[in-house]
Amino acid sequence: MLMCHVKGCSTDNFPLRIEDAEMEQVEVEFNEDFCRRLINKIDWPAFVQTAFALGLDQLPAALPDDLDEEFLQRIHKLALETKLKAGRMVCNGCKHVYLITDGIPNMLLQETEV
Ligand SMILES: [Zn+2]
Repeated sequence: MLMCHVKGCSTDNFPLRIEDAEMEQVEVEFNEDFCRRLINKIDWPAFVQTAFALGLDQLPAALPDDLDEEFLQRIHKLALETKLKAGRMVCNGCKHVYLITDGIPNMLLQETEV
């Protein structure tokens, strides 16, 4: 989940909309403490929106007070085990398209955009 950084683009620029996503599942060892810290750092509404848009999971709009292990496992799977292999990230604000190839989003901008 990255923010658009086209110069002058400051509204509706996060999260980037993901299109034609090609997902890949990888296995990452579950670490409960790490997962709890991660949840406190992510932008929850943006995370929920992205997970839903990708058809991965329907998470509660508000972060539950009680984060049980089952819930943390869900976050672990979404945030750490699901990789975006290919696709496009589109800014809702300025419509800039960032291509993702081999799991790496190309965040470089053309000279006219910086
Ligand atoms: Zn933008």
